[in-house]
Amino acid sequence: MASEADATEQSPIEPARSACDDAQAADAGPVEPQLSAEERRRRDDAMAHVRRLGDPVLKTRALPVSRFDAELRRQVDWMRDLMEGAVGVGLAATQVGIVERVLVYRTEPESPIVAVINPEIEWRGEELETAEEGCLSIPGVHVDVERNVHVRVGAVDETGTPFTIEASGLEARVLQHEIDHLDGVLMLDRTTREQKREAMRTWRERHAAE
Ligand SMILES: [Zn+2]
Repeated sequence: MASEADATEQSPIEPARSACDDAQAADAGPVEPQLSAEERRRRDDAMAHVRRLGDPVLKTRALPVSRFDAELRRQVDWMRDLMEGAVGVGLAATQVGIVERVLVYRTEPESPIVAVINPEIEWRGEELETAEEGCLSIPGVHVDVERNVHVRVGAVDETGTPFTIEASGLEARVLQHEIDHLDGVLMLDRTTREQKREAMRTWRERHAAE
């Protein structure tokens, strides 16, 4: 599961790159040879909508969706566009300031981006795995997080139709990371005290440099 060493929401575009290089891929940093100028512009446009660490909405528990109307479908399509533009593999509504239980994700590059509404983790396998995660809301920061390797998630789609996801590995990790967002929980809340402290230091230094 080498791909899991890469960021959770930041797409593992170039598996050969180190976590440090990958961190640069998350913001408007130095040279990013894997993205064209057009892709970089689109990513910057998308990232401008993503709330960053320190924004209180990221600590907010999102509310269940009860209306499955055209507005919800527009919101879901917008989130799909933003996630794709940001070159991410997952995005929760709270990350774009919407306090509703909606997430989108795609862990296989050629698959459609799936909308998961009102998700509930119905079952967690006992097996645990620690891997490095990144977050579009905390670009440039990576921390180790222990997650269940296998989960089953019950949800509804944007028309309100129920479905179930049996997920393993990276897909299970992304779903747990995004569902955490809907509960106001960040990856920093799930790592060690030492890594959290180090991550906060990195975050402050990056901001001071901007
Ligand atoms: Zn995240």
